[in-house]
Amino acid sequence: MRIAVVGAGAAGCFCAAALGRRLPGAEVVVFEGGRKPLAKVAITGGGRCNFTNTFEGIDRLEEAYPRGARLMKRALMRFSQEDTRLWFEREGVPSVVMDDGCVFPQSQDAMDIVRALERAMRAAGVKVRCGHRVSSIKDLGDRFRISFEGLEETLEADKVVVTTGGSPTPAGLSMLAGLDLETVAPVPSLFTFNIGDEALKTLMGTVVTDALLGLAGTGFKAQGALLVTDWGVSGPAVLKLSSYAARHLSENGYKGTLNISWLGTANEGECMAAVKEMASSEPRKLLVSTAPEGLSGRLWRHLAARAGLRDDLRWAELGQRGAARLTATLACDAYPITGRCRFKDEFVTCGGISLSEVSLNTLESKKHPGLHFAGEVLDVDAITGGFNLQAAWSMAYAVAEAISSTCNGDGGGACRRISS
Ligand SMILES: Cc1cc2nc3c(=O)[nH]c(=O)nc-3n(C[C@H](O)[C@H](O)[C@H](O)COP(=O)(O)OP(=O)(O)OC[C@H]3O[C@@H](n4cnc5c(N)ncnc54)[C@H](O)[C@@H]3O)c2cc1C
Repeated sequence: MRIAVVGAGAAGCFCAAALGRRLPGAEVVVFEGGRKPLAKVAITGGGRCNFTNTFEGIDRLEEAYPRGARLMKRALMRFSQEDTRLWFEREGVPSVVMDDGCVFPQSQDAMDIVRALERAMRAAGVKVRCGHRVSSIKDLGDRFRISFEGLEETLEADKVVVTTGGSPTPAGLSMLAGLDLETVAPVPSLFTFNIGDEALKTLMGTVVTDALLGLAGTGFKAQGALLVTDWGVSGPAVLKLSSYAARHLSENGYKGTLNISWLGTANEGECMAAVKEMASSEPRKLLVSTAPEGLSGRLWRHLAARAGLRDDLRWAELGQRGAARLTATLACDAYPITGRCRFKDEFVTCGGISLSEVSLNTLESKKHPGLHFAGEVLDVDAITGGFNLQAAWSMAYAVAEAISSTCNGDGGGACRRISS
């Protein structure tokens, strides 16, 4: 039996290694369009590779996976975040957990993850063919024919696993044309916002550890650290909001209004209580000289100015109207989003092969038994923090398990092509 894996990224290499181990009699070949396998994994997490997360603080999987939470619930039951850490530990890559639950190799070197996967594939007898960009996959009924860009040769395989990752344009899925698969239009996720407010941008470098962000006129909200940049805003809370609202923002040309609750709560009563507390404890002090906890002096002066309060105002002189304006600014400060930032950052694709096309347990095509998908090529994506790579490992494992369970007990020498 021959199993072709298309794409030597996180999902493809993990799946190929697992297949090679489970089915020693099968020929497992990975076709990679680029010059080397795992090129993206090598640069993940800024070269440190945040390869999973403890999931602490994630109450509902939808918080981590805005697309694909149902699928991920099943996939994580088969191969969890603990399984991931254990798997890499056994492959010689011990890990460390950061305060925010992100998990990295102890060496803080993404190449350790790359080398572990390469070793595992080699040991399992997997062949990797780089420079082989797949241009089409045809269903011949009892097997598949694979064609390559710029190459005469074609190849037939009993099973095909598509792990070509996310693509910000529909062209990335063109090799699947002819298979009549429904796709969800791909749009970018995990980006930072350009903000049309020059005064805010002068605060570049300012960090607020706990801000609550919302997109005006929508229910999209995200909480966490916020960083002011020279183009607008960045940081975990912004990336999370961009993930939750990826499609909405795309449809609205990346324009909208960002509401910032600077104290981490949009509850006006709580903000008013904080203002009153400061006013009563330091009545003789200048208002601009005593910032609430968590806000820098520079940012506090900016907020006081936005609330229309004079620099020389003392807390005792704030009055009810001043307190109400300051409270409104702290609880819901609105800034125009003028676009998305197009450089740096980890970004992933929202969209891809529709989940209605696959069995959620085996990730096998309902229309083309024997054809499986794993990773970002499916309409599954996550917020930052190691959840995207965990999705790749868990889905790849589910596919390897599904394929090996449909094969005869001869180690994969022969294989039934059955629908799941
Ligand atoms: C800069 C950056 C940093 C990131 N950091 C993190 C992080 O720290 N933690 C985290 O969880 N996630 C991170 N991510 C996201 C994560 O890398 C991806 O979600 C993950 O790699 C997806 O795995 P995949 O196997 O589905 O796709 P990929 O890893 O993208 O692999 C797909 C492979 O398929 C190949 N391919 C595509 N089309 C073809 C074709 N037609 N024929 C043959 N080969 C093809 C590609 O060349 C590629 O090698 C980061 C992303 C970026 C861009």
